[in-house]
Order: sequence, then structure tokens, then C-alpha cells
Amino acid sequence: MLHRLPTIFFGHGNPMNALEQNAYTEAWSALGLRIGKPKAILSISAHWFVPGMGVTVSTAPRTIHDFGGFPRDLYQVQYPAPGAPWLAQRVQSLLAPLPVVLDESWGLDHGTWSVLRHVYPQADVPVVQLSIDARQPATFHFDLGQRLAPLRQEGILILGSGNLVHNLGAYAWGAAQPQPYDWALRFEAEARERIQAGELQSLVQYERLGADAQLSIPTPDHYLPLLYTLGAQQSDDGIVFPVEGFDGGSVSMLAVQVG
Ligand code: ZN
Repeated sequence: MLHRLPTIFFGHGNPMNALEQNAYTEAWSALGLRIGKPKAILSISAHWFVPGMGVTVSTAPRTIHDFGGFPRDLYQVQYPAPGAPWLAQRVQSLLAPLPVVLDESWGLDHGTWSVLRHVYPQADVPVVQLSIDARQPATFHFDLGQRLAPLRQEGILILGSGNLVHNLGAYAWGAAQPQPYDWALRFEAEARERIQAGELQSLVQYERLGADAQLSIPTPDHYLPLLYTLGAQQSDDGIVFPVEGFDGGSVSMLAVQVG
């Protein structure tokens, strides 16, 4: 049996991180070197948030440029990692009898490739994406993380990609980095404490965590990938936060490594 791999939630932030070399992307690269290459990656990205459950089954998933208004260079980025139809089928069977469609249309969105371009720059690790069913409550997504946990022992890196705090309405798009908002700092600190303390149900019930949580999670898409990572946690896993920081004052770049 393979040793159990960690599962990691990445704060992906601005799509330009795909092209930049900065403190975040350098930490992502270092993380890839530390962990080594898994057999394959299952990515749950904030940017495949749709009414239904799909898992990519293509052998050559396309690089999706799912954003607008960025420099041309960003649209030319390709991340030609192979797919892994066997992993798509394994995910389907782990989640049965839930209806998970083997999807030919999606590929790798920027939630996945903007990070992986730094973690595994050679694009030689197969990648499968699982959609986030937008119709389902948070508890459902945490439960899916639990059901996917056996993959960690099968050489699969379960990767959540979103942002713990993600409020684009408050985001400063200029070049200068503003101070993070107080509510953003408070919510991130609270979430970190709850993660460390194993108070995971309170994070699943995040809508009860008050005004700071509401401002930090105005929509669930960027938060829910974290619940897959936390759901796949085992009782003896350690927790570390290998990447920290705020972007634009209102986007937490925190990464959470479980195991
Ligand atoms: Zn995003």
C-alpha cells in the first residue's frame, strides 16, 4: 500500500499568479518539491461550480481560460497535463449511488492550472477535476470529502482550490497592496483556529459564524473546496498552513495542508 498523501487546499487568488513569480507561487513550487509527484491529482476548483456532479474523463483535458479582461499572455498559457479516465471512474464508484457524470466537455480551469503550473511545472501528473454541485449545502460537500478520503492511500493528491476569504466586491484591483480588511483578518484567524482545533463542523456550518464570515464568504464557490480537504482529513493528520497572506485586501491566500 502507498503511504497516505496529504490533501491540500490552495488559495489561488488572482489568475495572474499563473504567470507571476511571487511569494505565493514560490511557496507553491516549494510545496510540490516537498510532496513529490503523486500518481494523479483530483482537483475540486471553485470555478467548476455548476448544478450537477461531473468528473472530467478526457485523456487530454483542455486548458480553460475562464476569466475576462486579463493580459493576452494569460490566455496563451497551456497546462497540458494528461487526464486519468481510470481516476474519473474510481471517483464515480466511490461516490455511487450519487449520479456523477463522466464529463467530456470541461477541462482544467484556472483554479486548477494557475496553481499547478507552479506546483508541477512539467504538467506530467495526470489531473482530473470534480465539479462542485451548486445545488447542494455545505454539509454535502464535506461528506464528499470524507467519501473521497481513501484516494489519499492510492497515491492521489486531493486538491481543493478556492480562497478562504474571497470578496471581490471589496477587492482592490490596483498595483498597490492595501492592508487587509479587519473582518477578513478576523475571519481567517478564526477559521485557522477552528481548523487546528478540529472544530470542523463549525466550519461546515459557516453561515452561523456571523458577520465576518458573511463578508468573507459572500458566495460559497471559493469556500467549498476547503470542505473537501477538511472532509478528507483523518484523525491522526497534522495541519500546517504552508502559504499565507492577503491579496487585494479581501482575498486570503492561505493554503491548508492536511497530513
Ligand atoms: Zn477564483
